[in-house]
Amino acid sequence: MIGGTEARVPSETDPQTSETPMVAMRDVGKVFVTERMETRALADVDLTVRRGEYLRIEGPSGCGKSTLLGVIGLIEEATDGDYRLDGVPVAGLSRTQRARLRNRLLGFVFQSFNLVGDMTIVDNVEMPLRYRGGIGQRARRERAMALLDRVDLAPRAAHYPAQLSGGQQQRAAIARALVGEPALLLADEPTGNLDAQAGGEVMELLAESHASGATVCVVSHDPAYAHMAERAVRLDQGRVIAP
Ligand code: ADP
Repeated sequence: MIGGTEARVPSETDPQTSETPMVAMRDVGKVFVTERMETRALADVDLTVRRGEYLRIEGPSGCGKSTLLGVIGLIEEATDGDYRLDGVPVAGLSRTQRARLRNRLLGFVFQSFNLVGDMTIVDNVEMPLRYRGGIGQRARRERAMALLDRVDLAPRAAHYPAQLSGGQQQRAAIARALVGEPALLLADEPTGNLDAQAGGEVMELLAESHASGATVCVVSHDPAYAHMAERAVRLDQGRVIAP
C-alpha cells in the first residue's frame, strides 16, 4: 500500500455496525448475454436498504425485479457498478465466499416454493443448517421443528411437499428461509401461486419476521400487500423510476 491512505476494504468476516446498510448499490447494472442477444436487465441502479427495513420492489413483468432480487441475494452477479452486502463488496468474492455469505446472511422465498420433492418437509427446513455446518443433528431437528411450529405445520413434518397445499408448501418454504435466522429475507412474488387467504398468511409471516428484526425485500405486483412495506421502489425497463 503506498502512503497507507487508502480506505480499508471491509472483509467478509468483519463485524458490521448497525449503521452499515444491509444493501448498498451504486450504478449497478446487469446484462445477460446469450448466444443470440444481450439483454440489459438492470441499469444504473442506486439502492440502499437499511438494516431492519421492509422494502417492496414493484413494476411490470420483465422490468428486472427478479434480477434485482437475484443480485441482492448473490444468485446473480452484477455486470457493472458497486454492490455491498452488509458492508462487504461482493464483486471480489470467490464462489465459495459468496456461498458462505449467502448462507450466513440470507433467506429466500420463491414464487414456486422450490422445496425438494423427495425430501420430507422437516428435512427441507433443516437443509440450510446442514449447509452451514457446526450444528448437530439433534439441534438441527429441534430448530426445524420449532420453525414448523411457528408456521403451523408441525403435524406435517413427515409429509412430502406434494402432499401439502400450495399455501402450506409456501409456509414450509418460509420456515426453511428463516431457520438460519437470516439478517436479510428475500421473497420473489411469494403469493404469486396462492389464493388470497393463503397469500395473506404468507405475507403475515414475512411481516412477523420483519417485526422481529429481519430486513425484508419483497418483489410483488399485488397491490393488496403494498401497505405492509415501509418503502417501495418501482422499476421500469431495468431502472429505478420511483425511489
Ligand atoms: P421481472 O422479475 O420484473 O419479471 P426479470 O428480472 O425476470 O423481470 O427479467 C428482466 C429481463 O431480463 C427480461 O427481459 C428477461 O427476459 C431477462 N432475463 C432474466 N433472466 C435472464 C437470463 N437468465 N438470461 C437471459 N435473459 C434474462
